[in-house]
Amino acid sequence: MTRDMKRFVLTMAGAMCLAGSAHAGKLSDLLGSQGLKDAGNTAITGLALTDAQVVELGAKSVAQMDQENPVAPADNAYAKRLAKLAQNMTREDGLTLNFKVYLVKDVNAFAVPDGSVRVFAGLMDLMPDDAELMSVIGHEIGHVKYGHSKEHYRAAYLSSAARKGVAAIGGTVGKLAASDIGAIGEAAVNAKFSRANETQADEYGVDFLRRHGMDPNASVRGMQKLASQDGKAKTSFLDDHPASQERVSHLQKYIARKR
Ligand SMILES: [Zn+2]
Repeated sequence: MTRDMKRFVLTMAGAMCLAGSAHAGKLSDLLGSQGLKDAGNTAITGLALTDAQVVELGAKSVAQMDQENPVAPADNAYAKRLAKLAQNMTREDGLTLNFKVYLVKDVNAFAVPDGSVRVFAGLMDLMPDDAELMSVIGHEIGHVKYGHSKEHYRAAYLSSAARKGVAAIGGTVGKLAASDIGAIGEAAVNAKFSRANETQADEYGVDFLRRHGMDPNASVRGMQKLASQDGKAKTSFLDDHPASQERVSHLQKYIARKR
């Protein structure tokens, strides 16, 4: 896979997450019918990863993605902005987080079960308002906090095992080939979250802003900005205006309720 393709794959991921989708990211969607059937086999279900293994898999997949994407050096303006915003977030709500910027123009961000948060320069350009940017980052952290991203990694791992066979994939995270880890990471960050998961992450984003003394309404503005991107990017996530608007009104209600 070329670097450009990799970027495109990553773009799809955050895009779908950020703008939301009415489609559930069910295990069956990730595995396909044959994969799900195979996953029912004892040999495959016996591969269920522990939490620690999912974290390990997440860390390895991010290391791979960091190699394949242009990571902003520490003295880069984008990196400095993110580092300043995240300076008090290495320990956040029981998670250990690390942050990096990918110097690509796509509007995207994602977080991985090991606490790695990756923010794309295009998203930072779209949101010069720090609170809006942090609302998106908080949302992504919410997916980690609530275990949504772990579910996607587990499913992607099972799918890979079902496709390639247990022996081929090694049976433990430590034995996975780099190419398999990369493919699993891509599948996991590309998988759509369910509507329920998105709602939970949206609410987490509001709580996150409040916890850091930022305006919770920035989450509404951030969501509206992302929705306004519809039609400009060539990804499947962008044709769900109603979903985005439902999310905006839910955010408004949630903010008012918690006031
Ligand atoms: Zn999301």
